Amino acid sequence: MNITSETKLYGLIGYPAKHSISPQIHNSAFKILNINAVYLTFEVKKEFLKKALDGVRALGIKGLNVTIPHKVNVIKYIDELSREAALIGAVNTILNDDEKLIGFNTDYTGILKTFEVYNVNLIGKKIVLLGAGGAAKAIAFAIAEKSSSLTILNRTKRKALNLAGELNKKLKVNVSANSLTSESLKNSLKDADILVNATSVGMAPNINQTLVTKEFLRKDMIVLDVVYNPLETKLLKEAKEAEAKCINGVEMLIQQAAEAFKIWFKIEPPINEMRTIALKSLTGGKSN
Ligand code: NAP
Repeated sequence: MNITSETKLYGLIGYPAKHSISPQIHNSAFKILNINAVYLTFEVKKEFLKKALDGVRALGIKGLNVTIPHKVNVIKYIDELSREAALIGAVNTILNDDEKLIGFNTDYTGILKTFEVYNVNLIGKKIVLLGAGGAAKAIAFAIAEKSSSLTILNRTKRKALNLAGELNKKLKVNVSANSLTSESLKNSLKDADILVNATSVGMAPNINQTLVTKEFLRKDMIVLDVVYNPLETKLLKEAKEAEAKCINGVEMLIQQAAEAFKIWFKIEPPINEMRTIALKSLTGGKSN
């Protein structure tokens, strides 16, 4: 690419961050739309987070994605939050608007767009969400605003109860929460329409792990796994065998990236090409 004095800088901060495929996704979009910008990853240790954000203002970095472990702590150092970021209490996208840093949560919009792409209407559906970490929190807020029946199951029960309590307080919705055991899975999945795995279980290198055994998966169920590496987790493989409708984590990854792109550039991103690049990157093909 032709880097000039006009080239704008975007990037991802996290620790670790090197595993991310966001650079491939965004740089390919810049190339396709002829945008004079580059997207890099920055491994920022916790103790340098404030300095990194000061650097964003000082150097005029135009936009950032934020990943583990900074999604919550970064809020202290930015100037304004979108409604969703404030609701969830986590930021995964920052816009530098003339030195004013505005925080957004595009995991929230990303999950809703993903269901939309797969023609899944959440209204009236009974949904079971596994996990109460960062991804689960954004997903829980997005789902709870659409569906009146949400159950959160998490290995650490306290975290599931806290998340349900927050949803109850902020959205005035009644969400059930419990520890994740085979008993609670059996009870909640017997008549569930949608199962969302928002834990890291099944992620490489632990690809033989799943929290849900085969007998709980049914043909009339929709199963979404937010894990995107591997593309087909053990959970999705077994859901496919049960003839359930399966959605892998790549769509959410792409949709949240597309939303970030829209926030930064106020134009539609080339989403199909971004998806192709992501799939290529994740399957070891050449990305760009
Ligand atoms: P996180 O904040 O660290 O949360 C991890 C969650 O997984 C917690 O609920 C944790 O339960 C649970 N967990 C971990 N190991 C477990 C085990 N052995 N048994 C049962 N539960 C276990 O991580 P995160 O940011 O939410 O990310 C979770 C996954 O989502 C990752 O694989 C990440 O790559 C993926 N993700 C995907 C997208 C996307 O766009 N597709 C976006 C964000 C994240 P405890 O609370 O008990 O520890």
